[in-house]
Amino acid sequence: MRRGCLPAPAHFAESFLGLSFLAFHEKVAVSRAMGCIPSEWRSRTDLDRITMLDWLQEKQQPQAAIDRFWYPILVSAVNEELHTMAAAHGLQVFWLGMLSQSDSYQMGLPSVPLRELYSEQGLGPNIQIHYRSPITGISLLNGHISGLESNDRLIEADYYVSALPFERVQALLPALPIQWKVFEHSPITGIHIWFDRPVTNLPHAALLDRTIQWMFNKRGGRYLQLVVSASRGLTEMSKQGIVKLAVRELSEFLPAVRLASVEKAHVIKEVRATFSAKPCLDAFRPDADTIFPNFFLAGDWTRTGWPATMEGAVRSGYLAAEAVTRAAWSPRNFLIPDIG
Ligand SMILES: Cc1cc2nc3c(=O)[nH]c(=O)nc-3n(C[C@H](O)[C@H](O)[C@H](O)COP(=O)(O)OP(=O)(O)OC[C@H]3O[C@@H](n4cnc5c(N)ncnc54)[C@H](O)[C@@H]3O)c2cc1C
Repeated sequence: MRRGCLPAPAHFAESFLGLSFLAFHEKVAVSRAMGCIPSEWRSRTDLDRITMLDWLQEKQQPQAAIDRFWYPILVSAVNEELHTMAAAHGLQVFWLGMLSQSDSYQMGLPSVPLRELYSEQGLGPNIQIHYRSPITGISLLNGHISGLESNDRLIEADYYVSALPFERVQALLPALPIQWKVFEHSPITGIHIWFDRPVTNLPHAALLDRTIQWMFNKRGGRYLQLVVSASRGLTEMSKQGIVKLAVRELSEFLPAVRLASVEKAHVIKEVRATFSAKPCLDAFRPDADTIFPNFFLAGDWTRTGWPATMEGAVRSGYLAAEAVTRAAWSPRNFLIPDIG
């Protein structure tokens, strides 16, 4: 999809109408539903309680439009199935990423690894990063955090911000009054395949109506990375079985795969890849402030209003930093307004 000459929210119209994998009546149905998003996103109060599939059925979306348009975009953006994802997050993806502004779909790509981007030098003075130093305990004294245990050391500070995933916070600080049971994980599976010859010259592709969702050409059309979000169906399957399935599905789209041999393959099942952005979860996501006046929570799973994304994680960091400055009687604002 490319931006055309029409203003937002119709800037994708020309490109969308040209999509070859949707029939005309499916495009009309998708456009009708898209047209409802700007007003419903602001005005409806039940979007966190219903699933995205409920919303799509309410908008009478044909099955092919769901399978070939809504599903591929949303399952990878939110890492959840349509029948399990809160409609609020589904609409948010389309509103912020596609409809609100004509350039809001554009992305910045770091040209260096994150480790370099967020090095001590990159972050500024007075920053020290301790690698391989997991926190193994959190000490409490008189209702405050008095220190963190790591590698047999006690680390003391005025204020502490946790950016751990929810299951680690629960293990380290079970005293926090958070309804841990409502938080669940959603898996992602990555499949890396090296062929003995180039099988494609596409930089990337979405495989419609298949288990494999995305293909990324990592090197010369010979090394392909495949991604399956919300991959619960693959968690029990053997790695060999997953590679076989992936090669079979790829060969349906890329005929050269039929003539090629697999030189090596890796399957990475991330069972705890992200939290599941299911309906009614937002009310349970904690704010940065906790019952401990010198301890704050960040992380994509906290109350950011976003599903499990890097944007959500970054916003949680800004919110935690704001909470620390409030606790230190020197409040500052860091959060950048949403684009929509
Ligand atoms: C395979 C995959 C693909 C993804 N793709 C995308 C994407 O394309 N776009 C997108 O926006 N998001 C994507 N996400 C989601 C995104 O990565 C997360 O939402 C984001 O990284 C969450 O950031 P976070 O800082 O909250 O948590 P994390 O990035 O999970 O960071 C938590 C950190 O805590 C550390 N930790 C754990 N226990 C301890 C301990 N005891 N002591 C010290 N440190 C500890 C961990 O090592 C980790 O570094 C993807 C996630 C996965 C798994």
